[in-house]
Amino acid sequence: MPDRIVIVGAGQAGGQTAVSLRLMGHKGPIVLIGDEAHVPYERPPLSKAFLAGDVGHERLYLKKPNYYGDHDIELRLNTRVTAIDRAAKTVTLGSGENLTYDKLVLAMGSRVRRLDVPGGDLPGIHYLRTLADVEEIKASLKQSARAAIVGGGYIGLEVAAVLTKLGASPVVIEVMDQVMARAMAPKVASFFEQVHRSHGVDIRLKTGVTGFEAGSDGRVAAAITNSGEKIPADLVIIGIGILPEAELAAEAGLTVENGIAVDEYGRTEDPSVFAAGDCTNHPNALLDRRLRLESVQNAVSQGKTVATAIIGKPAPYAEVPWFWSDQFDLKLQIVGLSDPTDEVVIRGSVEECKFSACYLRNGIFVAINCINTLRDFNAAKKLIAAHARPDPVTLADPDIALKEFE
Ligand code: FAD
Repeated sequence: MPDRIVIVGAGQAGGQTAVSLRLMGHKGPIVLIGDEAHVPYERPPLSKAFLAGDVGHERLYLKKPNYYGDHDIELRLNTRVTAIDRAAKTVTLGSGENLTYDKLVLAMGSRVRRLDVPGGDLPGIHYLRTLADVEEIKASLKQSARAAIVGGGYIGLEVAAVLTKLGASPVVIEVMDQVMARAMAPKVASFFEQVHRSHGVDIRLKTGVTGFEAGSDGRVAAAITNSGEKIPADLVIIGIGILPEAELAAEAGLTVENGIAVDEYGRTEDPSVFAAGDCTNHPNALLDRRLRLESVQNAVSQGKTVATAIIGKPAPYAEVPWFWSDQFDLKLQIVGLSDPTDEVVIRGSVEECKFSACYLRNGIFVAINCINTLRDFNAAKKLIAAHARPDPVTLADPDIALKEFE
């Protein structure tokens, strides 16, 4: 009898695992369980084209809703898995029902980090992780006059760009001294800050939010900062990072260290349990370290990796991480993981909003931020994977294509 596969989490990684298993010829039952109301969908447009109203639900879906039935994948939506019994090989659902598995895939993603301050749960304060969250934000937006965004990371800045396009003048409140601090050198971050400011976004750096104040209608009316300032806002969107959704695994006795610990094949220490996507912590041989990533590339690749391991054709996962973000007319693409101490080489024209920031660590090409430079993005992936050592002076010349350095 072919294995019965149960997948917990019907998001990017869980959906990909199910699709890949069928594509790779798995003939046994597949049960895909998700606690949201929707078939697996992509989150990136939530803070971009979907929030802007440029695309509808159907453009987010990984596969058309009928795909799952057509491919004999049992999709259980609005269903939360509450416990795993590894000895009995069962999962318990919120309803109390138990389902058996031969192989279990954990793909529970992440949950938002919450801002635990007085007034933090007033009506009008939102987080942005799910389609349902965006539907609520869109409804609030209709009556909103002043929006504040807490957190100047990708999501905060993407939302700021969309709200500006929709006619608002949002305030972005960021506790660090630069935006997108995790992935970006200060000079690239200040370029993004200037672009946002030129479109009317009010960016407050080195500013923490210590609470929120309600108006006479009981809804949020202001964000209070660490300097005591009250920033008027009737719509607040908080984007201050995420945490891996790994408690289920920890409670089942699996190793969780900043995500569910898996090997390069997506295997946990239990040979019947695998994990993929945001909720994992995995080794990357190319980077020679363990990582927890929050990206589509990682969720898709790990989903495929787990499927190959389950069907008995394991192939190790080792890719240079990449990510993208759209803000105004800027198409930002990031490859690799940079560090504040890296040497930064700029190639191209910052004034024309078309340049790349290349990060060198001890002379080795480790990461790139491409701003409207798609050609560099593709070539840099190979160079970073190959640990290339480009000459910094030549690298700075945009007339020399990056592929020349291969
Ligand atoms: P998810 O897609 O989050 O799926 C996990 C699912 O499991 C969720 O539906 C969750 O509700 C469900 N679940 C959790 N626990 C249980 C349980 N116990 N029982 C049942 N179901 C459960 N990445 C990029 O690369 N580029 C981008 O531009 C980009 N933009 C983004 C914009 C936004 C607004 C957000 C939120 C994310 C963005 N990301 C982007 C990140 C990317 O979407 C995630 O890395 C990716 O979705 C991770 O896939 P996943 O399957 O691990 O998690």
